[in-house]
Amino acid sequence: MNMHPLFPELPARLGRLGELAMDLWWSWNHQARAVFRTLDYTLWRATAHNPVLMLHQIDRTRLDRAAADPAFLAVYDQALAQLDRARSAESTWWTERCGHVPHRPVAYFSAEFAIHQSLPIYAGGLGVLAGDHCKEAGDLGLPFVGIGFMYPQGYFRQRVTADRQEEDYVSLSWENAPVEPASTPDGRDCVIAVPLGNRTVLVQVWRVRLGRTKLYLLDTNLEENAPWDRELSARLYGGDRETRVQQEIILGIGGVRALRALGTDPAVWHLNEGHAAFVVLQRIREHLDQGWQFSDALAEVRRTTVFTTHTPVPAGHDAFPFHMVETHLAGCWGSLGEFREDFLALGRHDNGSGTLFNMTALAIRSTGSTNAVSAVHRDVTERMWKPLWEETPGVLKPVTSVTNGIHLPTWVGAELARLLDHHAPEWRDRHDEPGLWDAILAVPDAEIWEMRQALRTALFSFIRERMRLRWTEGVSAPRVVSGGTLLDPHALTLGFARRFTGYKRPELIFHDPERLAAILNATRTPVQIVFAGKAHPADESGKHALQGVIRRASDPLFGGRIAFVDDYDLHVAHYFVQGCDVWLNNPRKPLEASGTSGMKASVNGVLHLSIGDGWWAEGFTGSNGWLVDPGTHTDDHDAQDAADAEALYRLLEEQVVPAFYDRDEHDVPTRWVRMVKEAIRTVSPTFSTRRMVKEYVERMYVPAFEQAAASR
Ligand SMILES: *Cc1c(COP(=O)(O)O)cnc(C)c1O
Repeated sequence: MNMHPLFPELPARLGRLGELAMDLWWSWNHQARAVFRTLDYTLWRATAHNPVLMLHQIDRTRLDRAAADPAFLAVYDQALAQLDRARSAESTWWTERCGHVPHRPVAYFSAEFAIHQSLPIYAGGLGVLAGDHCKEAGDLGLPFVGIGFMYPQGYFRQRVTADRQEEDYVSLSWENAPVEPASTPDGRDCVIAVPLGNRTVLVQVWRVRLGRTKLYLLDTNLEENAPWDRELSARLYGGDRETRVQQEIILGIGGVRALRALGTDPAVWHLNEGHAAFVVLQRIREHLDQGWQFSDALAEVRRTTVFTTHTPVPAGHDAFPFHMVETHLAGCWGSLGEFREDFLALGRHDNGSGTLFNMTALAIRSTGSTNAVSAVHRDVTERMWKPLWEETPGVLKPVTSVTNGIHLPTWVGAELARLLDHHAPEWRDRHDEPGLWDAILAVPDAEIWEMRQALRTALFSFIRERMRLRWTEGVSAPRVVSGGTLLDPHALTLGFARRFTGYKRPELIFHDPERLAAILNATRTPVQIVFAGKAHPADESGKHALQGVIRRASDPLFGGRIAFVDDYDLHVAHYFVQGCDVWLNNPRKPLEASGTSGMKASVNGVLHLSIGDGWWAEGFTGSNGWLVDPGTHTDDHDAQDAADAEALYRLLEEQVVPAFYDRDEHDVPTRWVRMVKEAIRTVSPTFSTRRMVKEYVERMYVPAFEQAAASR
């Protein structure tokens, strides 16, 4: 019996393999990963861990052999039993904690979701957070649906020629991606209509399976739509302001309509960043259609909507001229038309250079709780939006914060997971309990060091294979060098991988090139730095910084000890945050709202070397990494850069390098290993999405659920 129409050729004994490949839950379950890894390891690597593509390419003989191999079948059967358990709604944390609230879902809206590299609908940290939130919500048993965009061309793929980033948009190969058409309760493909200006755009809804969580993705590329409308959802963060406002109307208004068409009745609505704030327009309108007053409808929407803001950078908040918003919303008003001015006033905001319709202002004014993503960011957000809190005291609650986290099963490296299975076997189920992690202190130093070496080795073989591939694809010889072929697998390795943009200061470490060269080229204590990251196509300064780093990577001054790895994505991120020794993070304070890559690094024992911004202001204990503290704060950027760079060099010279190269008689760096243990022990429980999602449940979702129940 074969259960999946996409994979008709599977042997009967492996009939559910297609179902497993189409549920991205496999990506964070170690048994399910083992199924695909052992099925055909070469193909697993060649497809960048894409089981759907694997099943389309695999040899029949391999499948037959697996179907007759008892060891393989044992893992396969266990994985499927776990999949069935992961899909059932019984006996979860949620049913125990929240049995009293109605079993209606939380609807989580986000412009991007980073679940797995085979679904390229994310650009960076915001998407990773959204993806990790969905995974954790499922693990905890929350009734939860995510809503976002399909983006058939995704975010761009980065290619590096001699010294520059080039952007490719690659159309998704649908048959090789884990998406399927979503269907309505009566079994038809879900297609909805969204009024846009004076026309109607049709939107197809796709479904991604994530265990018990559903993720729905909106796509305007339908034949019935005009060519320009078909392009609306083609690319993430592509196009101009007009495109952006139309995308946001589709996400907010279309997203609510899609949920209705799918028969989903959310009790709580979570807006991840302001992009989705038009959700409130559609929901107010729904209440007006049922005969409510505007003020009551707004109050009800506030009671049941939660907003998370993510950036202290003013340009990161979408704002549009009023005429632009009015043009594109023209067909959306319906019964809300009479209250159009009241609604538009909810988004009014003067950013200092004029009054615009601001999506963050709309979200703050029309939701019941606004939260920032770290304690430092909370203070910055409150200052930024002070006029809003002051205008209507009482109605608007001040901003709170829920510090971000990462989904541990996604980010912990395989070698570390094996070690934890041995020394703290309950870690998979109870990893937000701080006490459980004390077990790491008793692990022999040599074992920890071996784990770190194994993860580092995996990074270097990944980098070398990538450059080998690029070489066969025709990149130049200098680019083979700058791509990392000269790196030393035993040298202290710093990693810097994130979006290339001004405030993250990717070039800070080059502030004094001679001093850096001396650190890198020290004969007995060599140091190397691996970089990766994309610059947004419209971010000229980000692109310039990227070019600067690539040039330095091929500058003989630095001895081949700097590398730039192209096309940063989830796949590259996994190798980096697990395989480096030190994770470098030097944003211009206080512009990093939280940051999450340092959490991913720390839980793998990659020591964080960071400015005290975002989560590190809470996470640094004194013994689990290093704090780059210049002791001064000034608005003069040049002076701040100089002071921060000086503090960074001093830490490297006086602490980081000596600790790494100070070895015992078995060549184990015991001081270093002690810090590795502290990083794993202190960061894993607290900066996990398990802690984070539980906090959202207790502080935001449960009160909203109770309100929703009370007002029914
Ligand atoms: C975690 C992650 C980010 C976020 O990195 P920050 O340094 O926290 O900004 C961005 N991109 C990818 C692919 C990631 O995995």
